[in-house]
Amino acid sequence: MISRRTFRIFIILAGLSFGGVILTQLIWMRNAYSEKKEEFNRQLTLALQEVVRDILQYNTTKTIPANPVTQLTENYYAVMVNDLIDPAVLDHFIQKEFLRFHIDEDYAYSIYDCSNRQLVYGGYYQHNLQVESKDTYKFPPVKADNYYFTMYFPNIKLGLFSDMGLWVYLSLLVFLLLSFFTYSFLVITKQKRLSEIQRDFINNMAHEIRTPLTTIGLSATGIDQSISPENSKVKIYTGIIKEESEKLKLQLEKILSLEEGVELKKEWLDPNELVKNCVDRFVLLRSVQTDQFSSNLCNENIELNLDPMHFSQICSNLLDNAIKYSLDKVKIEVISKVKDDFYLLSVSDKGQGISANYQKKIFDRFFRVPFGNNHQVKGFGIGLYYVKQMVKAHGGKVWVESKVGEGSTFFISLPIQ
Ligand code: ADP
Repeated sequence: MISRRTFRIFIILAGLSFGGVILTQLIWMRNAYSEKKEEFNRQLTLALQEVVRDILQYNTTKTIPANPVTQLTENYYAVMVNDLIDPAVLDHFIQKEFLRFHIDEDYAYSIYDCSNRQLVYGGYYQHNLQVESKDTYKFPPVKADNYYFTMYFPNIKLGLFSDMGLWVYLSLLVFLLLSFFTYSFLVITKQKRLSEIQRDFINNMAHEIRTPLTTIGLSATGIDQSISPENSKVKIYTGIIKEESEKLKLQLEKILSLEEGVELKKEWLDPNELVKNCVDRFVLLRSVQTDQFSSNLCNENIELNLDPMHFSQICSNLLDNAIKYSLDKVKIEVISKVKDDFYLLSVSDKGQGISANYQKKIFDRFFRVPFGNNHQVKGFGIGLYYVKQMVKAHGGKVWVESKVGEGSTFFISLPIQ
């Protein structure tokens, strides 16, 4: 499980990259918008210059003013003509030039009336439809006393944005992706919190159960010592109580050592000795027949740096599983050998086997191969997780080779230093 610190770093990095993506997208959008606006301005200036030229040609005036187009605000332009402007003629030429320069913005225009020295409303153009309304638009006058007209584009921002279809589409896509990631992130955080709660609960429960179990064991010993030797029935029962409470305690220790982390108490030992002890105990306790079990341990004299308690527990977990999942076809084989500086231990059975898609997952915490709701064999799903963690703590590896219906072989390899 990832630590709180790693998770916090992950959150910060994710936040930074999200911020980075949004910032980049905004900068791109702004640049694209400015480029579009510049392009629009360029085309509009050219179109309006052509309108001036057209009007003057129509009036048969030869002198064309230099730089007739002035941008007053973002969407308001003044165009000097310095000659009489007929509204109908202006209207015609604006439409003609806008068509030629592909300008399809809505616009309103006004013409400066030299007789009463004020701008009068000229017209409004919206998608091929002329709407006359004197009150809708305000045309601030320009400091010029000659003939000129002004143009106002009310929807210029909207128009430019609609021209940026691809950018808007990309931004929506980025937004969607970010929303998706944020959602997944929230789900992960929730899952992590749940898993922390679960871990705390297991820890607390295991601690709570440990003390009464010890008391039960001690009480059974007490009863054992205080009864007369003839009372063999009670002795049998106290024996069962002690054995079962020891088993439960062992399970609890396994859970606790996995949850809280273990400190290995390593010694230099012959692994075959430990395997042999484990096998003998297994054969005795499980009453395995000689034809159901065989072991073939190597003769090499080797010593490994092992924690004897945990290494024995690894062996008995594998042996327990071999018998548990063999059901009625018990045929178990334990082999050890030395190969390329590695001590190799294998435990094989001819049991139900594990299908390929579960062979990696069985080493996960609490994972059990699903059999609907009726598991024939009961368990917690921590045996192999424990094996994996402990083998890893010893610097080794564990893996399985198995075929459904034919059996499984679990391998452990430990480096010989
Ligand atoms: P448990 O045995 O308590 O369920 P384990 O971690 O020991 O937990 O095993 C996880 C799962 O791997 C088991 O539920 C079982 O489905 C599968 N498994 C383990 N050992 C064997 C085996 N020798 N043969 C077949 N399946 C096995």
